[in-house]
Amino acid sequence: MTNYSDICIVGAGIGGLSCVSRLLNSAISKNLRIRVFDLDATVGGRIQSWKINGDEIAELGAARYSPQLHPHFQQLMQGSGLPHAIYPFTQAVFDDGVQEELKETLLSLSPMLKEHPNDSFLDFVSHYLGASEATRIIKATGYDALLLPIITAAMAYDIIKTHPETQDFTENAANQWLYATDGYSGLLGQLQRQAQAAGVEFRLEHRLLSVEKSGDDHVLSFSHMGDTQVHRARHLIMAVPPSAMARLNLDFPAAWSPFQYDFLPLFKGFLTFDEAWWQELGLTDKVLMADNPLRKIYFKSDKYLLFYTDSKSATYWRDSLELGEEVYLQRVRSHLEDVLPLNGQPLPPIKAHFYKHWPHGVEFCLEPEAEHPTALLHQDGIIACSDAYTAHCAWMEGSLISARQASSLLLERLSQPAEASNDDDTFATLTTERA
Ligand SMILES: Cc1cc2nc3c(=O)[nH]c(=O)nc-3n(C[C@H](O)[C@H](O)[C@H](O)COP(=O)(O)OP(=O)(O)OC[C@H]3O[C@@H](n4cnc5c(N)ncnc54)[C@H](O)[C@@H]3O)c2cc1C
Repeated sequence: MTNYSDICIVGAGIGGLSCVSRLLNSAISKNLRIRVFDLDATVGGRIQSWKINGDEIAELGAARYSPQLHPHFQQLMQGSGLPHAIYPFTQAVFDDGVQEELKETLLSLSPMLKEHPNDSFLDFVSHYLGASEATRIIKATGYDALLLPIITAAMAYDIIKTHPETQDFTENAANQWLYATDGYSGLLGQLQRQAQAAGVEFRLEHRLLSVEKSGDDHVLSFSHMGDTQVHRARHLIMAVPPSAMARLNLDFPAAWSPFQYDFLPLFKGFLTFDEAWWQELGLTDKVLMADNPLRKIYFKSDKYLLFYTDSKSATYWRDSLELGEEVYLQRVRSHLEDVLPLNGQPLPPIKAHFYKHWPHGVEFCLEPEAEHPTALLHQDGIIACSDAYTAHCAWMEGSLISARQASSLLLERLSQPAEASNDDDTFATLTTERA
């Protein structure tokens, strides 16, 4: 039957592809028909590498990793043999004095964290410094999310500790950061080619609409180029983030976990110029923290300028684009001129630009302190994985940890005698694995 798979994986981001890779590494899945579906025309999901001027790579999604924080990803990169280099943006340029203030504030308030387990970061800092001082100092971190009511003080400290631009204020100051010089899409392409060589079939531009249980099988309906296609699978792994799970008829999250999930938008805007004028300003390979909607401005060697924003500022740039590209570019120029030491000179002409708004850029569990299972299991036996289920949400590392757990669960099931194979198909809270 051509529309039948033994194993079906929905989602061809790094999570789905590493599930496939782990299944293929096991003799148990030999001779099983595995298919991967994704709604996009290419694999990668939130990893998208973009070539500028034929050589330099710009990452529209995931860009950097730290061997100290992301050991599974580091191992994957090393195994791929793909080139990597030092990610330069661990040195941030702040307005006068704010850097020291931020460092001192974080250090002096950290012993009080225990007393405010449920307070937002803003309430926590406001408690000691007053609301306007707290807002000013938190804004200086460059991350809008740190001002949101859903971000607790403990979460905020963790975010500051685990981002290259802000780690300097914490005990993680010495962590190293790397990036894939040829782009992470090369890594994803490699995983896809290895899977195809082992007989795995990819069906791209297939959007999963619904899943029904039929006997031992799952019946999946996809929309593909205006048609509906039905596919049967004995086993199903959903490697899509929580926001995509919630759009299906799978009663997510209630039928999967007692936790709640949320997401935040991200936006990256890239600009190229005829000349790398920022070199004269001493900004090469530095990140400038801006107290305006540009938030964090990165000056990549002599190649391009990038601004990277989240939450409120990401929405500001999406709204600017909705008013037209001219409005967007005019705002970019004016905010750059506000924050750069250009001595009253206009910004040099922008040669080319591109951008990416990610409506669901970061996905996470709202109860970060909870012992969350690293993969979820539905009562119909469907397994789900996502970085959002791990302590490394918003990092490729989290996707790898979750995919590892999802594939282990499936391999365990496949290794059981046929008559017992349904025994574990009950709602279960799985063991946690935190790296
Ligand atoms: C702007 C940005 C910057 C980032 N920076 C970093 C970074 O520097 N370092 C880092 O480690 N991580 C970073 N991340 C996070 C990283 O990209 C993610 O953690 C990781 O790529 C998630 O992989 P995933 O496979 O779990 O999910 P995704 O990449 O989201 O893949 C899910 C796939 O499922 C598909 N899908 C969804 N719904 C359906 C459906 N109904 N039917 C079929 N297919 C469906 C999607 O098309 C997608 O391909 C960043 C993310 C963004 C957006």
